[in-house]
Amino acid sequence: MQMYDLIQKTRRLEPLNTEEIRFLIGGYTEGSIPDYMMSAWLMAVCCQGLTVEETTELTLAMRDSGECLDLSAVDGITIDKHSTGGIGDKTTLLVAPIVAACGGYVAKMSGKGLGFTGGTIDKLESIPDFSVTMSKDAFIKQINEIGCCIISQSGNLTPADKKIYALRNLTTTVDSIPLICSSIMSKKLAMGADCILLDVKYGYGAFMKTPEEASVLANLMVDVGKEAGKNCRAVITNMNAPLGSAVGNALEVKEVIQMLRGESRNQLTELSLALSAQMLTLSGKGDVITCRQMAENALTSGKALEKFAQMVEAQGGNAHVVDNLSLLPESRVNRTISARNDGFITEIHSEEVGLACLGLGAGRTADNPNIDRGAGVVFHHFVGDYVPKGEPLFTVYGQTENICEIACNRIMKAIRLKDAPAVLTPMIYQIIE
Ligand code: URA
Repeated sequence: MQMYDLIQKTRRLEPLNTEEIRFLIGGYTEGSIPDYMMSAWLMAVCCQGLTVEETTELTLAMRDSGECLDLSAVDGITIDKHSTGGIGDKTTLLVAPIVAACGGYVAKMSGKGLGFTGGTIDKLESIPDFSVTMSKDAFIKQINEIGCCIISQSGNLTPADKKIYALRNLTTTVDSIPLICSSIMSKKLAMGADCILLDVKYGYGAFMKTPEEASVLANLMVDVGKEAGKNCRAVITNMNAPLGSAVGNALEVKEVIQMLRGESRNQLTELSLALSAQMLTLSGKGDVITCRQMAENALTSGKALEKFAQMVEAQGGNAHVVDNLSLLPESRVNRTISARNDGFITEIHSEEVGLACLGLGAGRTADNPNIDRGAGVVFHHFVGDYVPKGEPLFTVYGQTENICEIACNRIMKAIRLKDAPAVLTPMIYQIIE
C-alpha cells in the first residue's frame, strides 16, 4: 500500500477502507509515513471531507494507536463530559461535583489550555497544592469513593492524535469537521467511560461559528460514539458571550465556589444544571426532568459544594479554599471600568475577551508556556442588563498597570451598549440524542 495512492483517493472523493486508514494512522504514529505526506492527506480531507464510515474508522484507528483505559472496576456507570472549548467555560468544575452528589460517577481527563480558551487543568491547578496526576488505580479508587475525579491527559493515550494535532496546527488543517471529530472522539473513546456528553459550542469564542456548523459536528460525534458502542449525546450551546462572570483560572474557580455556595446564579448555573441533568439521564438515573430536579437539589442543599471540597482534598489540594477564597492567587494589579453612558448590553464578544485575557497572562501561547493564574477579568453585568452611566462594568486583574490598561481598552471595545435591549438567544440551541 502506498501513501501516495491514499492521498489521491481522498482528493478524488474515493472512500478509504478500514485497512487503508489503519495503514495511514499506524504508519504516521510509528514514523514510517513522513510529515509532508500526512500534511497532504490532511489537506485533502480539509478540502474534500470524509464519509461518516471513514470518520468512524479514523477515530477507532486513532483510539487504538495507544493505551485504552479500562474503567470496569468502577462500581457503576461511568460518565465523561467534553466541551469543545470556550471563554469562561468552567462547567466541568460545576457538573462533576453536582453529578457525583446525585450518585453519578464522573471520570474526566482534561487538557491544559492553549491560546485563548482556558483549560480545566489550569483552573484546578490554581487551587493550592491540587494535583492533576495520579495512577490509574488511584483514579478509579477516587471515582468509587467520591464519585468524581478530574486529572490531566497523560500516559500513552492516543499518540496518533498528539502527532496529528500538532501537524494540523502547523498546516492550517485544524478546522475540518471530520478531523475535529476524530481528534476529540478518539480521546473520549480511549478514556473508557460508558457514557459521553458532548457540549458543542458555537459563536465568536468557539471553533464552530454558527449553530448549523456545530450541529453537523455534534451529529457526527454522536454517530461515531454510538458506532463505538457508547451511550452518547450532544448539547449545542451558545458561546457568543463569555460563560458566567469570570474569565481566568483562579477567578473562574472563585466563581464556581461562589455558585456552589449559592451566592450567585446566572446562565452558567442554568447551563451546568442542564448538562448535569443530561449526564445523569445518560447514566440511567431517570428522565431529564427528574434529573434536572436532582441536580438542582444537589446544588441548593450544599451537597455539590461538599463533593467539590472532597475532590479537592482527595487530590491533595487545600479544601479550606471553599470557605476562604483568599487562598486563591490574585494578580497584583486590578482595575475597574465603569459605563461611560447609559444603555443595554447587547454584546460581549467572547473571542475579544479571550484575547484580552491572553494579553493579561491568563492563557498559554506557543511562545510563552507560563500563565499567571491570578489574571483575568470579572464582569459585573451580563448581556441583556441595563447599565446606568458610572456603573462598574468589569474588573481586570494583571501583573502591571500597563497590561491591565491594554486589556481594559480591548474589553471595552468588545462590549456593545445600546439604547434598546437585544433579543436574547437561548444558551441551548439543540440536543442531539
Ligand atoms: N479539540 C481537540 O481535541 N481536537 C480538535 O481537533 C479540536 C478541538
